Amino acid sequence: MPSITRECPSCGKFYRIDISRDDEVPCRNCGKRNRKIDSDSVTFSRCVICDCGNFYKQKDFNQVLGCFIVLIGAGLMPITYGFSLPVLILIDWFLYRKTDDVIICYRCKSEYRDFSTIPQTITSFDHHTGELYETD
Ligand SMILES: [Zn+2]
Ligand SMILES: [Zn+2]
Repeated sequence: MPSITRECPSCGKFYRIDISRDDEVPCRNCGKRNRKIDSDSVTFSRCVICDCGNFYKQKDFNQVLGCFIVLIGAGLMPITYGFSLPVLILIDWFLYRKTDDVIICYRCKSEYRDFSTIPQTITSFDHHTGELYETD
């Protein structure tokens, strides 16, 4: 199900909106109902939240979990004669490969997940582009 995680204009907390729902989704934190988002309007030429035209993609991967897996591998090394670390690094890599991309707006940092219409032209985070939005 496509979803957007956006910053609530009222309270500033990020919350997730499932796009296929018909009604307006209230913010989980403050309960304010924000403007409904029509899935057809999500084309990635413009951000539906802030109208910005720049996006980047990144793996929707929990890096804390990734580090944790590697740490376990390192911790088990003495018992497994050094076998655990390469195995768990492999698991880590496999999980990373299996993880989908999340598309993020440079300006408002809204996260777009599970959309089928993501253009191939969206690339990984570019620091030069990122700097343009730093001062916002
Ligand atoms: Zn809110
Ligand atoms: Zn945006």
